[in-house]
Amino acid sequence: MVNNFDFSHERDLDCDTLISRVTAYYPDADFVMLRKAFNYATKAHEGQKRRSGEDYIIHPINVAATLVKLRLDLDSIIAGLLHDVVEDCGIEPTEIQDEFNPAVAQIVVGLTKISKIKFKTKEESQAENFRKMVVAMAKDIRVIIVKLADRMHNMRTLQYVSEEKQKKIAKETLDIYVPLATRLGINSVKSELEDLCLRFLKPETYYELREKVAMKKSERESYIKDTRNILIEKLNEYSLKAEVKGRPKHFYSIYKKIANRGVDYDQIQDILAFRIIVNNITECYKCLGIIHSSYTPIPGRFKDYIAIPKVNNYQSLHTTVIGPKAERIEIQIRTHEMDEVAETGVAAHWKYKEGIASGTNKLEWVQELLDYNQSVENNSEFMYTVKNDLDIGGVFVFTPQGDVRELRYGATPLDFAYAVHTEVGHKCVGAKINGRIVPLRHHLKSGDTIEILTSKTQKPSKDWLNIVKSGRARAKIKQWLQKEDREKKKEEGTDIFEKACRVYGSSIKQIKKFGDEKFVVEKFNMANFGDLLINIGAGKTDIKAVIQELPSLKKIVEKEEEENKLSEIETFSHKIKKSSRSKSNMDNAVIVDGLDDLMVRMAKCCNPIPGDSIVGYVTRGRGITVHTKECKRVNSTELDRGVNVEWNPNLGIKYPVTIRVITLDKPGILSLISNQITNQGINIRSAMAKSLPDRRGSFIFEIEVGDYSELLKSIHNIEALEEVISVQRA
Ligand code: MN
Repeated sequence: MVNNFDFSHERDLDCDTLISRVTAYYPDADFVMLRKAFNYATKAHEGQKRRSGEDYIIHPINVAATLVKLRLDLDSIIAGLLHDVVEDCGIEPTEIQDEFNPAVAQIVVGLTKISKIKFKTKEESQAENFRKMVVAMAKDIRVIIVKLADRMHNMRTLQYVSEEKQKKIAKETLDIYVPLATRLGINSVKSELEDLCLRFLKPETYYELREKVAMKKSERESYIKDTRNILIEKLNEYSLKAEVKGRPKHFYSIYKKIANRGVDYDQIQDILAFRIIVNNITECYKCLGIIHSSYTPIPGRFKDYIAIPKVNNYQSLHTTVIGPKAERIEIQIRTHEMDEVAETGVAAHWKYKEGIASGTNKLEWVQELLDYNQSVENNSEFMYTVKNDLDIGGVFVFTPQGDVRELRYGATPLDFAYAVHTEVGHKCVGAKINGRIVPLRHHLKSGDTIEILTSKTQKPSKDWLNIVKSGRARAKIKQWLQKEDREKKKEEGTDIFEKACRVYGSSIKQIKKFGDEKFVVEKFNMANFGDLLINIGAGKTDIKAVIQELPSLKKIVEKEEEENKLSEIETFSHKIKKSSRSKSNMDNAVIVDGLDDLMVRMAKCCNPIPGDSIVGYVTRGRGITVHTKECKRVNSTELDRGVNVEWNPNLGIKYPVTIRVITLDKPGILSLISNQITNQGINIRSAMAKSLPDRRGSFIFEIEVGDYSELLKSIHNIEALEEVISVQRA
C-alpha cells in the first residue's frame, strides 16, 4: 500500500511549528490551551532523558506530531503531549482535569492503565490484556489512537534499547497494535508499524529488502515517473482530472508476498502501487473503465470496495493490469475523502469536529466485542473472538434479495445464517448456493448468492464449532450448547431431588410450600433454586447434604439416624430367625461305646462341639448327656455314671456355640461382625446387643459350627476386625 505519511522522528519540533500544522486543518483550535500543554509537559519532564540521550520531552512532542498528521482533535493532541506525566512525573489525574479538561484527563488515565499491562507470551494472559485494552477503548476510542502514536514513536526509536527488548516490543506491536490499527482502518500507521516490526524482528530480511529496493532506485523512479505521466495523459484524453501517485509497496507487504508465494524478490513483479485520486464516485468508475480498456486487467484481481466497503470503512477500487511498460502494476482508484479515510481510518472521524459528546467516541464493533465478552466463557475464547474480529480479509455474498454481506474468509453457510439471525443459525440445515444445495461445511466464495435452508427440528451441535469461522456464530452456538447442557442437568437434578424427597414422604412442591428452598439456596451459596438443581444434576452438590439441611425434613432425618441402629438390629434378627429354621438334628452326633441308637444330648452348661474332649453321663429318663472334659459340672457329678463317648466322624452336623464380642460402640458394627461370621458359611441363631459404659458395645452371638477348628477360625476372623476388642467363647 502506498503511504502518504511520514512519521519519522523529529528532533527539533517546537510549539509554533506544531501550532502551524494544526492551523492547516483546524484554524479555530484553542491554541492557548495547546501552548499551555506544551509548556506543562516540558516542565514536568525537565531533566529526564530518553535512552537515546535526548531530552524526554521530544517523545511526547513526536507523539503529538503524529496525532496532528492523523488530524486528530485538540483533546487528543494535548493528551499526546501529556501522556507520560502521570506515570513518569507523578502528576495526579485530577490536576490534569483542573488544568485542562476531564476528557484530556480521561485519555491520559486510559493510557497510563494500558502502559501497566504486562504482555506475556502465554495466550491466556495475553487475552486478559487484550480484554483490558478493549475496555479502555470502549470508554474513548481516542485512547487507543494516542496509544498507537505513542507506540509508533517508541518503535521509531527502538534501536536505543537492548536487542532482547527490541524483539519483545516488536512482537507485541505485531500481535496487538498492528491488528488494532488495521481494525481501526489507520493504514498509514499500520504499514509503518509493520515495517518497523520487520526491521527489529527479522533485521537480515529487512535490510536485504531495503538494499534491493534501493538498488534499482533511479531505474524505478523513472519508471514511476513515466507510468504516471502516461496514466495522467490517458485520463486527460477523456477529460478526467486526476491526481496520480506511485510508490513501492511497504517492506512488510513485499516480505509477506515473498513468504506466502515462496518466491525470490526478483520474481515479485507488482511491488509498485499506483493510486489515482479523483473528485467523486462516478469519476472512480469512469477512471476504472479507461484503465481497463487501455491495459489488460489480470483476472480475479479486481475488487470493488466502493460498493462494498471493508468493515473498517475502507473504500477504493483495486485492480491489477499489465501496465504501459508490459509490467504488472497495482492500481487503486478512490476519491479524496476515501483517501483520507484509508490513511487515517477512524481518526478521520474527529476531523474538524471539536467538542463531540463522549458517547459518540465509542465504536460499534468495540461495543459488540464487549457484548460477546459476556457470553464467552474464558480468556482464550475471548482471544479467539477478538482475533477473529480483527481479521478482516473476507468474502462477499449476496442474499436472494440482492443484499450484500461480508463474511470471513473460509466462511460457511452456518456463518452466514448466524449473521442473518441467531435463530436462523440454530435452525440451519444447509443452503442453496446459486440454486444448488450444499452442506453446512461448504466454503462460500465471493459473488455467491446464498439462500439458507432451515428446519424446525434442527438444533446446534458441538460439531458446528469446528465448522464456523466467525466469532459471532461460535459464541452463539456455545451459548446454546451451554444452555441446553444446563437444562439437561437441571432436569436430572430435579429428578434426584424429587426422589430423595419422596423417601421422606415429601416433594419439591411441598418443600417450596414450606419456603425451605430459599434456606438451602443460601446455605449452598447458589444464585437460585434452579442453580442448586443444576449442581445436583452435575454431581457437584451432594443430595444427602441438601436433604439434611431442609428444615421441614431435618427432624425426620435426625429421628431416622437414631433409629438406624435399632432397625439394623431388627433386620438382623430377621436374618437370624430365617437361618435358625435350618436347625440340625443332634441325634447320632456321638457314638456311645460303639452303639449309635441311644438318645444323646449335649450339655447346655458347656455346649461341646466336635473336636472338644468329651465325656458322657447317663441321665435317668433322658438318655446320655455329653459334657466337655473341662466342664465344671462334670466334677460334681458322680463319675461312676460316666460312659465312653466319641464324636461321630461321619456326620456333618452343626453345633451351637455362644460367643461374646466386645467392641467399640460404633454404628454398623453389628452388621459388620455378622457379615464376618456368615461370610465363613456359619449360621447365626441369635444375637443380642448391649451398650457398655466407656463407649463400648457387647454382643452375644449364638452360632452353629461343624467343629472346634471352625469355631477357632470364626473367632479369629472376628478378632481381625478393627473395631473388635475381644472375642470369647461364652
Ligand atoms: Mn510514551
